[in-house]
Amino acid sequence: MEIKELLNNPTTPLQKIEDEFIQNSGIELYVKRLDLTHPEISGNKWYKLKYNLVEAENKGYKKLLTFGGAFSNHIYATAAAGNLFNFETIGIIRGEEHLPLNHTLNFATSKGMKLFYLDRSSYREKTSSKALSLLKEKFGEFYLIPEGGSNQLAVKGCSEIIGEIGIPFDYICTACGTAGTLAGLSTGLNPTQKAIGFSVLKSGSFLNDNVKQLLTNFGETKNYKIITDYHFGGYAKITIELIEFINSFEKRHNIKLEPIYSAKMFHGIYDLLKNSYFKEGSKIIALHNGGLQGLEGLKDKIMFLENSRNQNSTGM
Ligand SMILES: *Cc1c(COP(=O)(O)O)cnc(C)c1O
Repeated sequence: MEIKELLNNPTTPLQKIEDEFIQNSGIELYVKRLDLTHPEISGNKWYKLKYNLVEAENKGYKKLLTFGGAFSNHIYATAAAGNLFNFETIGIIRGEEHLPLNHTLNFATSKGMKLFYLDRSSYREKTSSKALSLLKEKFGEFYLIPEGGSNQLAVKGCSEIIGEIGIPFDYICTACGTAGTLAGLSTGLNPTQKAIGFSVLKSGSFLNDNVKQLLTNFGETKNYKIITDYHFGGYAKITIELIEFINSFEKRHNIKLEPIYSAKMFHGIYDLLKNSYFKEGSKIIALHNGGLQGLEGLKDKIMFLENSRNQNSTGM
C-alpha cells in the first residue's frame, strides 16, 4: 500500500438498526461501519492517522513514536501502519511489562514496533520537555503522535467522516477516549446537526477542554455535547450488564461490539432514547469505531463475568 492511498477513504456501509425498541422510539438509528475501514487500521484510527502519516513522510521522518495502554487500539493501528508504510515504530506503554505479551502488544511487536514501558507516574509526565528530550536521546529523531493519535491532523482526518455518511442526519454519536474524533466531527457538521460524545472515562467533563484545545486552529464550535453518564465505572471497567447488552445487540443486528468503547456508547444511546432525549423523527448516526482486536485480551474477564452471573442465577 502506498501512503497516498490513505487520502481516499475506504467505502464502508451505513447500516440501519431496526428493532422493536427503535421503532417505538420514533427515531431512526444508523450505524456507520467504520469498523470495516481496514482490517488493521480500523474505525476512527484510520482517520486520525492518515494525515499524520502523510506529514511524517513529507517531512522525511523514518520513525514514529507514540503512547498508549497495553490494550490500546491506537498502539495496534500505529504498529500496523508503520509496517504498511515502512516507518519504524516505537510504542511507549503505560505500566510494567507483563510476559507473555497480551494480544495487542504481541501483534504490535510482530509488526516491528519496539515497546518501551513507563511506570504510571512517569507516563503522566511523558510529554514534558524533559521526558521528550530523554526519549530523543534514547531513540533519535522521531515523528511524535500523541496518545490516542489526537492532534490537529487527526481532527482534520476525522472531519472527513461526516462526508462519508451519505444521508442527511440530525445527530452523530461517537465514544470518547481523548475526544479527538468528536472534535473532528464537530468541524464537519452543517449548522443544524449535532455531535454527541459518550465519555468512556470517569469524570469525562475535562474532555470539553480537550476538544477546545484541539479546535484552536479550526475555530470554536458549539455543536457538540459530551455525555458523561455511561462510563460504567471508568476506563476499561466492564460490567455484566454491558456484556449482556453486547450479546443481545449482536444477536439482533449481527454487529459485534466491544465493551471499552462501542458498547458504552450504544448502551447510552438506548438509554437516552428511553428518556426521549432526541427529538421525534431524528435521524441518528452512531459510529462503530472498530476496536474489536481488544476483545481477545478481555476474554478471561468476560468469561469470569458471565460465569458469576450464571452461578448467581442458578443459586450456586
Ligand atoms: C480510540 C477509540 C475511541 C476513542 O476515540 P477518541 O478520538 O480518542 O475519543 C473510540 N472507540 C474506539 C473503538 C477506539 O478505538
